[in-house]
Amino acid sequence: MNKIVSNTFFPHGHLLGIEGLLAGEISSLLDLSESHVEQNRQANKKRPLLQGRTVINLFFESSTRTRTSFELACKRLGADVINMSVSTSAIKKGETLLDTAMTLNAMHPDVLVVRHPHSGAVKLLSEKVACSVINAGDGSHEHPTQALLDALTIRRRKKRLQGLRVAICGDVLHSRVARSNIHLLNTMGANVCVVAPVTLLPIDIERLGVEIFHDMAQGLKGCDIVMMLRLQRERMNGNFIPSLREYFRFFGLDAEKLASAKPDALIMHPGPMNRGVEIDSEVADDIARSVIHEQVEMGVAVRMACLETVIQAAETKGKAAP
Ligand code: ASP
Repeated sequence: MNKIVSNTFFPHGHLLGIEGLLAGEISSLLDLSESHVEQNRQANKKRPLLQGRTVINLFFESSTRTRTSFELACKRLGADVINMSVSTSAIKKGETLLDTAMTLNAMHPDVLVVRHPHSGAVKLLSEKVACSVINAGDGSHEHPTQALLDALTIRRRKKRLQGLRVAICGDVLHSRVARSNIHLLNTMGANVCVVAPVTLLPIDIERLGVEIFHDMAQGLKGCDIVMMLRLQRERMNGNFIPSLREYFRFFGLDAEKLASAKPDALIMHPGPMNRGVEIDSEVADDIARSVIHEQVEMGVAVRMACLETVIQAAETKGKAAP
């Protein structure tokens, strides 16, 4: 059996969120991810560190980047991977989340990678199964691997996270990406601000330790990173913005608004993008400043590191622990 790189740094059996992780744990995950980046650029991308292990991707919500990159990550590490989506599973026949989880658990997977539309559902599931669980996005709560891949992208470009000024802009209210990034960036010593209309901010946003702006020019002033968020219309019931046109006019990132940021500020977006709603094509496709495709590339390396880490932690302990 192949030996996994020893990483005693991670005492958790699951990866459910960024909140509560220590700076050292985050740095070690990023360092391990870094070690996969070069490998992923070679002709032979396989490193069979997880040979013999089984991973099930269980997605109750649609996904392009996250599901594909978890699948690639498993294959590159030599694990067996099964993809289950709601449309083809017994959930369509009325099976509950926990019954589905227990059924899959009985097949002895090593990891369940789970995406679910309800905040907290992935944690609940992790309490019922014997294997490790990785949260691939739960409602508007957390998306830990997205924040890690964003951090890896930033760290590779700017050589640090500490002291950077990061503006997270747009639909913060519905965004698990925003929440995970705020936790990660604050833990790593960056200065985070959010820029959004009042209607798209959670009421207790101050408690997350961010500065708040309702004007793009003010919020972007002097920032190193401009992280745009998708307007998540599928999570909205009611009118949160007057119109898409008006939203783009005041909060959509274009060259004029970007001029307030530092000249070498990076443009980020977790995808999928709504061009002409939260971001203008001219800046999204600006190869000098937009790192949106690099984020996708880093996603594979980060997911390899996360799979390796939770499996190693569980195997070291003999069983998954919270
Ligand atoms: N893909 C990210 C997520 O699943 C961002 C988004 O959908 O806007 O949260």
